[in-house]
Amino acid sequence: MEKTNHTFSRREFVKKNSLLGVGTVLSFGVSGDLFACVTNSSTIPALSGGTPVREKAWLKWPNWDSKTMDEELLKVIRSGVWSRSGITDEFEKQWAETLGVKRCLAVVNGTNALIAALVQLNIGGGDEVLVPAYTFIATVAAVLNTGAMPIFVDIDPQTFQIDPEKIEAKISKRTKAIIPVHILGLPADMPRIMTISKKHNLVVLEDACQAHLAEINHQKVGTIGDAGCFSFQNSKNLPIGEGGAIVSNNDEFIDRCFSYNNYGNPFGSVMGEVGAGTLMLGTKLRITEYQSAIGLLQLRQLKEQTEKRNENADYLKNKIKDIRGIVPYKLYDHVTKAAFHLFPFRFIREEFEGMSKETFLKALQAEGIPCSGGYSPLNKMPYLKHAFGTKNFRKMYSDKRLDYSTYMEQNQCPENDRLCNEEAVWIPQYALLSEKADMDDIFHAIEKIRNGANKIKQ
Ligand SMILES: *Cc1c(COP(=O)(O)O)cnc(C)c1O
Repeated sequence: MEKTNHTFSRREFVKKNSLLGVGTVLSFGVSGDLFACVTNSSTIPALSGGTPVREKAWLKWPNWDSKTMDEELLKVIRSGVWSRSGITDEFEKQWAETLGVKRCLAVVNGTNALIAALVQLNIGGGDEVLVPAYTFIATVAAVLNTGAMPIFVDIDPQTFQIDPEKIEAKISKRTKAIIPVHILGLPADMPRIMTISKKHNLVVLEDACQAHLAEINHQKVGTIGDAGCFSFQNSKNLPIGEGGAIVSNNDEFIDRCFSYNNYGNPFGSVMGEVGAGTLMLGTKLRITEYQSAIGLLQLRQLKEQTEKRNENADYLKNKIKDIRGIVPYKLYDHVTKAAFHLFPFRFIREEFEGMSKETFLKALQAEGIPCSGGYSPLNKMPYLKHAFGTKNFRKMYSDKRLDYSTYMEQNQCPENDRLCNEEAVWIPQYALLSEKADMDDIFHAIEKIRNGANKIKQ
């Protein structure tokens, strides 16, 4: 999920949002400083010419407090030590401590964190890796980039997460790993997933790229499986611009990840004869010192922001749950905290006079509420066919396994299709950093659209 920071005129954002529903989801359609003047709200939906519920700006993201942050970042810039060094060590130490995990390696981004972790977990050509259908493209791209084949598991629309009931049916003798994704920052059902994984001897790599500080039974997500990956991309709850991390309690695994991230040169337990030089196949994924410095500064605010998101999400959920046609997310019983990278709910068209989701999103944005329709089904996009046609895939797999129509057939996820195409609506995390009165605006806007649904042209 990436967010642009441009300012749109009203016409531009209506035009922009006509793109929603066709594929990529990049903008929430409402910028911070839209609608300067304040007038009374009316019962006519803003999309039909009425006054928007909300005229006030939303908080800007990422948050940078010049007064307290400029100097510390400048110190790093002025030092001239820009390549990986002590600041990065410190960021890794603090992130590991924050999560309650033994080790952390910071890298260039979450996507490459996933690739590196998979490679060092010995996943590659010929292997099958289970992924939820409802995720960001990076999860699947990471699997394909190792040469392994992604197998899509359908989701539970109530939680938006991988459906544990549907995992075992997708396990074959080639299945080596599962990537539970804590999508939207809501924890996946890890206790069930760990039980299934143990039974079938699967490696578990948690994609926690949206789930900073989320918890299951007071244990941070990303620290429950064999390894966990995080993203610090600009839109994420801990933003650096770009950045990522691999965490694990397995020293030897993180040592190998470190070596891999530095051309395969010796590190920790990855060591050979003195003077032997580079020891294993590696690449370069090193994060810079100024990125780590930003990470340390943003980390200071993360806990408080996470608490705030949880409070506001709970408040908003309780308000909107009684609006007919709106079904908010459900958290699993053992979830003790969520990250709320996004606040999701399902929109039920029949309760809104048959209004399409696309129109609902336009109407909500016209009321001054940032929102998006979320992901499109990832198991149906052309990149899969492209990957299957690459030289490496054609050498690693039989023609039978690369038969695209069979693959498509076996990877259908009807629940995910409906969620993506008809039901899912997201409110971005930065909106949850506001006050209760701002949550009330979101509630009133939804209520107003429902009550005025017959006035909105379909
Ligand atoms: C953002 C994200 C990634 C990739 O992280 P980048 O830092 O953008 O490469 C992977 N998985 C999920 C679920 C994400 O949201």
